[in-house]
Amino acid sequence: MELKSRIYIAGHRGMVGGAIKRKLETMGYQHIITRTSGELDLRDQQNVQSFFAEERPEYVFLAAAKVGGIHANNTYRAEFLYDNLMIASNIIHAAWQQQAKKLMFLGSSCIYPKLAPQPLREDYLLTGPLEATNEPYAIAKIAGIKLCEAYRDQYGCNFISVMPTNLYGIGDNYHPENSHVLPALIRRFHEAKQNNTPVVTVWGTGKPKREFLYSDDLADACVFLMLNYDGRELVNIGSGEDLSIRELAEIVKEVVCYEGDIEFDTSKPDGTPRKLMDVSKIHSLGWKHSVDLKRGIALAYGDFLKGQYHSMN
Ligand code: GDP
Repeated sequence: MELKSRIYIAGHRGMVGGAIKRKLETMGYQHIITRTSGELDLRDQQNVQSFFAEERPEYVFLAAAKVGGIHANNTYRAEFLYDNLMIASNIIHAAWQQQAKKLMFLGSSCIYPKLAPQPLREDYLLTGPLEATNEPYAIAKIAGIKLCEAYRDQYGCNFISVMPTNLYGIGDNYHPENSHVLPALIRRFHEAKQNNTPVVTVWGTGKPKREFLYSDDLADACVFLMLNYDGRELVNIGSGEDLSIRELAEIVKEVVCYEGDIEFDTSKPDGTPRKLMDVSKIHSLGWKHSVDLKRGIALAYGDFLKGQYHSMN
C-alpha cells in the first residue's frame, strides 16, 4: 500500500472505520475513498458494483456492518444476518471483479463456538455450536471469512480476515439498550452521577468475562496487518487480557467518579461465559496493543462527554 494508493474504507462513519481513516490520514495516505450509507447502500449489489467500477479501489478495509450489543443482536436477528451477509458478499465479490490488490474483512470474536477452550485460537473456528444471542451475526461473519478464503483459493485474491475482540473508544454507540456493555455502562454510570441515583443496574450476573480493545489500537493493528500480513488464516486482534463484567463495572464507576452502588439484573442474558482471544499470532507478527483498559475508558469517557456537550449546543 503506497501513499497514493486508492483505499476504500467501508463503514468510515462507524467507530472502527473512523479509527482506520484517522490512522491512515495521520500516516499520510492521500487517496481515501468513503461513502455514507445514504450515498451507497452496501446491501444493494447493483450500487456496490457501480461504485467499485467507478472508483476501482486498490485496497479495501471492510469495516461496514450492522452491529450492536447482546440485546440488539438478539432482537434484530433478521437484519443482523441479512444486512451483514449482503454487505460482505457485495463488497468481496466487487473487489474480485475490479481486481482490488488486497481486501481486509473484519469479523468478530463471536464467530468462535460458545464453549470453545480459552483463550480462543484462530483454528477453533467451526469446531462447535455458536452462542445463541449472536448466532445470526456470527453466521454472517463466518460467511465473510469463507468468501475471502474461497476467492483466494479459486482466484488467488489477497483477501485477509481479522477478528477483533470487543471494542470501545472514540465515536462509540451509547444507545441505552442496543449498545455494547462498555459504552452502556459509561452512559449509565454518568447519568446516575448526574441524577444522584443511588444504584446502577448492570445486566446479567456480572460473572461473564470479556476482553476489550481500544478503537485506535484496533486501527493500528488493521493497518499493520494490511501492510504486513498476506496469509489465508484469520488473525485475532485483542489485548490478550480479560476481566469479569463486575470488575469492569467497578472500573467504569471509578473513572466516572460515581459514588453509589452496583446491582445485577439476572433476568438479562449473560451471553458467552468467556471470550478471550489468543493473540500469540499477532504478537509473533510484531504487533501489540498499547492503550491499557483504564486509560482507554478514561479516553472514551472524555469522548462521550464531548458528544454530550455537542448535543446540548
Ligand atoms: P457480547 O460480548 O456479545 O455478549 O456483548 P455485550 O457487550 O452486549 O455484553 C457483554 C456482557 O456484558 C454480557 O454478559 C451482558 O449481559 C453484560 N452487560 C452488563 N450490562 C450491560 C449493558 O448495559 N449492556 C450490554 N450490552 N451488556 C451488558
